[in-house]
Amino acid sequence: MTWPLTLATDSPDATRDVAARLASLCTSGDVVLLIGDLGAGKTVFAQGFAAALGVAGPVTSPTFALVRQYACGPDSPAETLIHADVYRTGSVSEVADLALAEMVEDEAIALVEWGDVAAPALGDDALEITLRVPAHAASTDERTICISGRGTWSGRAGEVAKVLESMSGRVAP
Ligand code: ADP
Ligand code: MG
Repeated sequence: MTWPLTLATDSPDATRDVAARLASLCTSGDVVLLIGDLGAGKTVFAQGFAAALGVAGPVTSPTFALVRQYACGPDSPAETLIHADVYRTGSVSEVADLALAEMVEDEAIALVEWGDVAAPALGDDALEITLRVPAHAASTDERTICISGRGTWSGRAGEVAKVLESMSGRVAP
């Protein structure tokens, strides 16, 4: 099994389900980059991911705050979920100023919207999630989710495919 893995979802809840399954593989120190245009579903993904980590309360777009921190539930492998949205930062050095890499070392998992902008400031290990509205989508609720792993995640495609196996979306070969 090799990266990227591609699947399709047909509702926000299906995207949340994918996120929850991926969260089950993450542990303290992990960085998940969320890539995709406005409205692609990055925040929806973050909601499913946070719920799986036992975060109580609503997860909304941190666009104006840039970074929000949520306490994870007692059974979670991390203490804190960091949810960042770097859309409004102008440069990689501004992202570096947010010190996300340092924050994540401290018992946290980081989810970063517009992660492609932030990637150079976040080190080599990351799970990359790209969300897209397919060009010829039959419905407005269709999204493709492309998953890729770098660094410590590069050898984990099989594991990721396995947790996604039983979901309603399709995993492309
Ligand atoms: P982003 O954070 O990428 O800008 P949001 O997650 O805030 O995007 O918004 C995605 C929008 O698309 C939401 O209104 C959501 O209800 C809608 N949507 C429709 N279908 C899907 C799907 N399959 N997955 C995720 N979001 C979807
Ligand atoms: Mg968002």
